[in-house]
Amino acid sequence: MAGNRALALGAIEKYKNAPLGHFVNGASLPGEGAAFDVLEPGTGEVLGQACDASEAQLEAAVAAARTAFPQWSATPPEERRKVLNKVADLIVARADEIAAVECLDAGQCWRFMSKAAIRGAENFRFFADRAPAAADGQALPTSDHLNYTTRKAIGPVAVITPWNTPFMLSTWKIAPALAAGCTVVHKPAEWSPYSARLLVEIAHEAGLPAGVFNSVNGLGETTGKRLTEHPGIKAVAFVGESSTGSAIMRQGAATLKRVHFELGGKNPVIVFDDADLEAALDAVVFMIYSLNGQRCTSSSRVLIQRGIYDQFVARIAERVKHLKVGDPFDPATEVGPLIHPRHFAKVASYMDIALGEGATIAAGGAPVDGAKGFFFQPTLFAGAQQSMRIAQEEIFGPVLTAIPFDDEADAIAKANDVEYGLAGYVWSRDVQRVLRVADALDVGMVWVNSENVRHLPTPFGGTKSSGIGRDGGDWSFDFYMETKNVALARGTHKTQRLGV
Ligand code: NAD
Repeated sequence: MAGNRALALGAIEKYKNAPLGHFVNGASLPGEGAAFDVLEPGTGEVLGQACDASEAQLEAAVAAARTAFPQWSATPPEERRKVLNKVADLIVARADEIAAVECLDAGQCWRFMSKAAIRGAENFRFFADRAPAAADGQALPTSDHLNYTTRKAIGPVAVITPWNTPFMLSTWKIAPALAAGCTVVHKPAEWSPYSARLLVEIAHEAGLPAGVFNSVNGLGETTGKRLTEHPGIKAVAFVGESSTGSAIMRQGAATLKRVHFELGGKNPVIVFDDADLEAALDAVVFMIYSLNGQRCTSSSRVLIQRGIYDQFVARIAERVKHLKVGDPFDPATEVGPLIHPRHFAKVASYMDIALGEGATIAAGGAPVDGAKGFFFQPTLFAGAQQSMRIAQEEIFGPVLTAIPFDDEADAIAKANDVEYGLAGYVWSRDVQRVLRVADALDVGMVWVNSENVRHLPTPFGGTKSSGIGRDGGDWSFDFYMETKNVALARGTHKTQRLGV
């Protein structure tokens, strides 16, 4: 555990002499804009500084992506496959270092990050291997015309990512963009910039040509805003809060940006009284308290059938009290710190909100005593009603709200009664019922008798305020590429004769 922290500190050592700058056109660009602190959530100390990109540096990044686009998009896809698979190999080779950096500046726990780094490599491999078929379309013939469709990379794209699992999420966007033939300007979250720097360096070590993948640091309201307004950027792939998605849509409107949004969630897990309650309990606890509760698909509302409500809440509370909270580098730790004092204050504020609304705190409910970092106790709210803010708003911390329901119709109504629609989880042994409920949930993804297990060819995304568009499999290429139809007239085709 001390070894992994040393590994992380070693990995970022070379960026600590000066505020972390940018990586543009194949080379490191020293920061010249305003510098901001990067904190270590596990200790509360300042780890280093990063720089907001200056306007000139942002221009340089977009210019590099634009200049590199014609050649990269025309590179045979087999070549793109080769270099992106090499990126995957290098990620695997440095997976421990990447995982350690995620523990250091994002405060995520080693037990999850060691797998997340490998998932980053899998994302690259998955889309690399699909590059050769990405342009393939359909044949849609009529008796007069042979129509066929084909796809082309849309152009330079912006990828803007949050801090919760920064490395894995970045690869999830950047790998399909590069496989499609797009060039990329990435802006990672300001609270966790280091693993993005490792990624762009690894990609160049693997042989990615200069300008194809650029990374700029900075704040959302300056660098992020300029990037999304830039006429040289054709599309914005964004993961973050719903309100930021709205801002980006406004910022990109003048230049008619194509947008793909993966936003917030208030995901229900519905537990019926006929469910395998042992398995459901494991999944309920895992899906909200892993990743420090900072997970878009977390099951932050548990809807429990009334007859088993008290008993099931008591069992969750028992587990929550025994969660191992502590040093994110310790492989035994299950819940680490929150990312930043500002986010800590937001999560903490919901304790008074819950009590004020008449809910009870069945476990947790306070900062961790004596901790130096931003540690908040895993918390369970009970006796909650659907109308309460703790049942409606995304808290994005290790905080679960338990709500009773009467029957299937009540469960569906409560599950859908939020502004979000990312994921839903259903636990029941009744096959007919789970099919009905899965159909009725207004969400982009449903897991039945399971926690969130990603299969890369399947679509990922949400409805309502949880997002626009889908990632995964071919859906990713649909976003990063333009579809073209070509109609070839057969000999049978005759045009109406005018002016004869
Ligand atoms: P955020 O929206 O505050 O920031 C995300 C990114 O957007 C950061 O890089 C930030 O600098 C940038 N940004 C902020 N304002 C901007 C602007 N005006 N223009 C351009 N860029 C701007 O989100 P966060 O707090 O970093 O992340 C947490 C949120 O992300 C939660 O709501 C969570 O649900 C969501 N999330 C969603 C998914 C998903 O797949 N649906 C996955 C992970 C996280």
